[in-house]
Amino acid sequence: MKCFVGLGANLGDRARTLRLALRQLAAAPGVTVAQVSALYETPPWGKTDQPPFLNAAACLLTDLAPHQLLRLCQGVEQGLGRQRQEHWGPRTIDLDLLHIPGVTLRDETLTLPHPYLTRRAFVLAPLADIAAGEIISDRTVAEWLAAAEDRETIVKVAGKDWPEE
Ligand code: ADP
Ligand code: MG
Repeated sequence: MKCFVGLGANLGDRARTLRLALRQLAAAPGVTVAQVSALYETPPWGKTDQPPFLNAAACLLTDLAPHQLLRLCQGVEQGLGRQRQEHWGPRTIDLDLLHIPGVTLRDETLTLPHPYLTRRAFVLAPLADIAAGEIISDRTVAEWLAAAEDRETIVKVAGKDWPEE
């Protein structure tokens, strides 16, 4: 199964935290990191009185079921010191399951595709690097990005090789 994951951080050494998160996902049994987007800096969304985020997206290949993958991501978040769980608040690391091709799902812990995906340029810009033609909710990622109001606020700060730096 393919799963597109969104990564975000706005506290501490943000790029280092994102690298560590990718490394830990790649080290998990049954998970391969197949593709990683460029790295973007984005203004905070929702609650605007907080530091800017670094955002990226990755494509994972995995044998894990969606909820197992969610738990893995939450374990990585905890391990990297994510503490506050304030909705839309600052965080050391945020790992969201964005989209699993062919899967639509909604329960207490997991909604797929991710509920805000189609409206947030900070998710769509990195996702378009690795999945521009992927159809989500009847439009391609590139089309959703072109329609996203905040797309001009997203700044690329490093190319796709950023995880190796
Ligand atoms: P947010 O990312 O919305 O700022 P959190 O990272 O704190 O907030 O996640 C809140 C809850 O969202 C988690 O407890 C998780 O169960 C739920 N959730 C629902 N769908 C998803 C998804 N696609 N990816 C990640 N978390 C999800
Ligand atoms: Mg989250």
